Amino acid sequence: MPDVTFIPFSKIDLLMEDEIEKSGFWPSSQNEIFDIERFLEKHLKSGLDKDANLPDDVMGEVAFRRGKKTCVSINAGLTREMENAQAAWQIGRWRMTVAHECAHVILHGPLYLAQGAQDGFWEEPPSQIHRCYKKQDKRFVADDFAAEMRDFEARYGWNSGCLINEPQARQRMEFQANRGGAALLMPANRTLCAASELFNDLRQNAPQLSQEARIERVVEQLAKKFLVSREAARIRCDDLEATKHADQLSLF
Ligand SMILES: [Zn+2]
Repeated sequence: MPDVTFIPFSKIDLLMEDEIEKSGFWPSSQNEIFDIERFLEKHLKSGLDKDANLPDDVMGEVAFRRGKKTCVSINAGLTREMENAQAAWQIGRWRMTVAHECAHVILHGPLYLAQGAQDGFWEEPPSQIHRCYKKQDKRFVADDFAAEMRDFEARYGWNSGCLINEPQARQRMEFQANRGGAALLMPANRTLCAASELFNDLRQNAPQLSQEARIERVVEQLAKKFLVSREAARIRCDDLEATKHADQLSLF
């Protein structure tokens, strides 16, 4: 049975950047908004059902089947919310849901396909479904996502794999997909460069602002620039230690 292994955060960032580069859909510096739907359909060659009839507590799911197209389904309720969105953050939240599923396709697709091959050795392999629940979606609630993941990894072992059908494997896959989704919409280097520029601007043009207020503004601007929710932008900045990075750059 395939193992879900520990992947360091920075490695997940690099894997995602690599996929963006391979896709040829790297956004231009004038427009940082990554076309995640196109990436899913054209580069990852997955189907996308945006109006999936899924239970309320399900955000989306991915169906893997050897020899068949992978299909990502997004809860129709979330898509309706996005289509009727009054605010950009709602669109951002939906984009992050799609990006999260993309990360599953990249990081976990090969494991599910290997699992399917074992299950269906003598006959047509069955579809392997990976379902993502809203309650596990830490993007909206947890400021301490990274800490939670560290605790988890410390408990289950940094170097140990867990079998794909074990509960801790599911949780590990969810953590990895959250990080991977964020890395697709806000690639590390581009995010750090953009954050540093914004911090510098504010230091020069609004020196009266407190550091707290500066961070607030930078997060808001980044959310707009990359079309993600503010929560997602804040978590990404924390994970990448954007403030520390900007401070270091300003010393030179
Ligand atoms: Zn998931």
